[in-house]
Amino acid sequence: MHRCVDLGPTPSVASSSGACLFVHRPKAAIRSLLGRTLLQLLCIQFLLLGVVHAAYAATDAPRWWKGNLHTHTLWSDGDDFPEMVAEWYRTNGYHFLALSDHNVLSQTERWISLSSVAEKSKGEPWRGKSFTPRDAYASYLDRFGPHWVETRNHPTNGQPQVRLKPFDEYRTTVEEAGRFIMIQAEEITQNATNGRAIHMGAINIHEWIASQKAGTVPEVMNQVLQAVQDSAAKIGREVLVHVNHPNYKWGVTAEDLASVVREDFFEVWNGVDGDNDPGDAFHPSTDEIWDIANTLRIVAFQASPLYGLATDDSHNYLGNKVRSLPGQAWIMVRSRFLTPEHIIRAIRAGDFYASTGVALDEVQWDPASKRLSLQIQGKAGESFVTRFIGTRRGVSVQGRARTDADGKIVETTLDYRTGSGPQMGEVLAEVPGLNPVYTLHGDELYVRAVVTSSGRIEWPSTEYEFQRAWTQPVGWQRPAPAKP
Ligand SMILES: [Zn+2]
Ligand SMILES: [Zn+2]
Repeated sequence: MHRCVDLGPTPSVASSSGACLFVHRPKAAIRSLLGRTLLQLLCIQFLLLGVVHAAYAATDAPRWWKGNLHTHTLWSDGDDFPEMVAEWYRTNGYHFLALSDHNVLSQTERWISLSSVAEKSKGEPWRGKSFTPRDAYASYLDRFGPHWVETRNHPTNGQPQVRLKPFDEYRTTVEEAGRFIMIQAEEITQNATNGRAIHMGAINIHEWIASQKAGTVPEVMNQVLQAVQDSAAKIGREVLVHVNHPNYKWGVTAEDLASVVREDFFEVWNGVDGDNDPGDAFHPSTDEIWDIANTLRIVAFQASPLYGLATDDSHNYLGNKVRSLPGQAWIMVRSRFLTPEHIIRAIRAGDFYASTGVALDEVQWDPASKRLSLQIQGKAGESFVTRFIGTRRGVSVQGRARTDADGKIVETTLDYRTGSGPQMGEVLAEVPGLNPVYTLHGDELYVRAVVTSSGRIEWPSTEYEFQRAWTQPVGWQRPAPAKP
């Protein structure tokens, strides 16, 4: 217990939990003004120490933390200020947030015109719906006040401007130990030489990483991974890189994801409505891509399968556009502590799941009994079905080119479906209820689970209307390390 003496009219003992309690008052005569101030400072210090201690305790058990690792702001093509975006996530039940603007870190001096901010508040009613757009600058000023918000007139043309605050300046306004943290990130955004879009989220980096200029999709992916790894090695930082929205502009195929074996993460679901997550008649869905890539990695590359994330990729916060909203897709990470390093380590260990609304109390994989079991959080009026998906040994890894309606080859993930025998990404079992279990038979290369609720996602989507959760592949054999 941290003890402070009484300071007069104020509460005066810092308890072990950090709260000051009322106690009796010593005689006023022995208190000088100086002593009073000193003691007040000591009490405040003990109080703060108490708060820090209260955030984590030695006995803390691992728990689920909710977060989004893909978010945009006015630093690139998002339409709101970073503090406002962070505030939205903090007040909507999230515990961690990475702001990942395109090819920029919020680290430099940046002023933008108020007219360009106002321009983003405009917009067409989307899909026939009507909205009253929020004025981004007015609400920023209203929430943070004129002493925080900085404006000026442009030095040459005189136009009014507002300053975009750097990460290190704004993070302290929203962070709270053990409750909500910010993680610095960048969406490293580029095209391969053949024009395919490759966006990769670099999470917890400490310096800006340049986009890569040329090469095939796997070459560019490897260049980005190397650049991030080199940067992180300079200061021994724990970083995470994941491939964003592989089907956006049909940029990244399952074969690309399989062959870049140093990349372990990709977005199985991205909240942008219209980025092709469900695939189409000539392109596989991101779920199918996951199974094809996993199978190829295990069978052809002797590598571990991919882990799948869900993210918002939010850009639109003002109510005038709904293509790219916050709160659509997230990950739940099981960790003892809420720090970037602990969150990233847990993700690396596969101790997380992706969600668009379904919450899991427990995901348990027991390697001894080869049993994968889930506990789903029930919701009134909703029913749940869990599909255990995997690929069995003996599957063919010979793919065929896909063709369009005119018989022309579509440059995309190959088609591995065969008329008989094991298939990539088979539904091995379909189990209703809140406690689905699957025990591996021994012929699976890996198994993962997708839970689908009868409950609809919060905002109408053209891509998928029901809430889901995705758990990570289990039951695979970790390949032996490659010989030097
Ligand atoms: Zn992107
Ligand atoms: Zn993005």
